Amino acid sequence: MDYEAFFAAELGALRQEGRYRIFADLERHAGRFPKATRYEGDNTQPVTVWCSNDYLGMGQNTQVIAAMHEALDRCGAGAGGTRNISGTNHYHVLLERELADLHGKEAALTFTSGYVSNWAALGTLAAKLPDCVVLSDDQNHASMIEGIRHSRAQCVRFKHNDVEDLNRKLASLDPARPKLVAFESVYSMDGDIAPIKELCDVADIHGAMTYLDEVHAVGLYGPRGGGIAEREGLMDRLTVIEGTLAKAFGVMGGYIAASADLCDFVRSFASGFIFTTALPPAVAAGALTSIRHLKTSTAERRRHQERVATVRRKLKAIGIPMLDNPSHIIPVMVGDAKKCKMISDWLLDNHGIYVQPINYPTVARGTERLRFTPSPLHSDADIDKLVSALSEIWSHCALARTAAAA
Ligand SMILES: *Cc1c(COP(=O)(O)O)cnc(C)c1O
Repeated sequence: MDYEAFFAAELGALRQEGRYRIFADLERHAGRFPKATRYEGDNTQPVTVWCSNDYLGMGQNTQVIAAMHEALDRCGAGAGGTRNISGTNHYHVLLERELADLHGKEAALTFTSGYVSNWAALGTLAAKLPDCVVLSDDQNHASMIEGIRHSRAQCVRFKHNDVEDLNRKLASLDPARPKLVAFESVYSMDGDIAPIKELCDVADIHGAMTYLDEVHAVGLYGPRGGGIAEREGLMDRLTVIEGTLAKAFGVMGGYIAASADLCDFVRSFASGFIFTTALPPAVAAGALTSIRHLKTSTAERRRHQERVATVRRKLKAIGIPMLDNPSHIIPVMVGDAKKCKMISDWLLDNHGIYVQPINYPTVARGTERLRFTPSPLHSDADIDKLVSALSEIWSHCALARTAAAA
């Protein structure tokens, strides 16, 4: 086989479809988020980032940065090993305590990313519980799907956020079998929010465990940034709450929070925890500081919600079609992969506005979109610039507007 020709042909097919991924080469400027410099060949261009998952700008928070500097100077660069072999640093212990407290659980366990935490925790629980069946929301993130697949347990997908469908599917299973219901709180592409209470009620009726991915909610919702389950007073209803340290907390890493025995079980059996080097101490220290800060400071959350509402209101006024949702994610619908990429390129090249096109397989074909994530740091001028640029390209491409435009 001509291996290189195979790779080139597959890439050619992606390009043909308009969904070949090109990464913008950026340098974010601490102290000036959401501003960044884009590198292209020999040229540089100032840009405003409109699609960051560092939702609150905690990646440039001065306390977070100071904590990382201090830990780096105190403990050096790397962790020095897996958690088992000399890699457990005091910062890891403090971080796990903080996370357990954040979610009102007995314990927490950290991983090198949110992806790894889902993959390892779901993979281990579903594989080890005898004859376990996993009920998985059909819009669950790739990391959950991969973890469930890796477990080789039976997986039954239920319709997205559909309590009745989950109930029917649970009812059809042998009551004696162990069951795990896996879902998210805020879904990252549509920005919709799961009916957590109702899903937990149904899971309880059928004796199922619950596993909630709060990756797009931790730091952002709830009085202490514990997520949607905290906001709704439901944290005790979830068997496992999973989160990331990389989005609203602005650093890196993932975790689960649950009972002491469940965390100890995953710690003791998960390959994806055991056989990989621990987070660098400086990263753990930065995350710890970020969580502590957001537990007491509500200024970031309030300003975040206000900025999101402002962008939404201004886009609505000029008829830009958005998916309506109750979260901080603003999906502007384009519905065509090539157009989506073209608009994104045009915004970047002509206005220094960076928003990545979201195409298949991240979202279904025909629902291609631009996903805007306003932060507390976007100014009124940034917003006005975005709104006028979108209006211009919408007219230029004769894209449909909603009735609100009239
Ligand atoms: C980003 C994401 C993850 C993975 O988190 P990382 O820390 O980036 O690896 C998990 N679940 C969902 C829903 C996500 O969007």
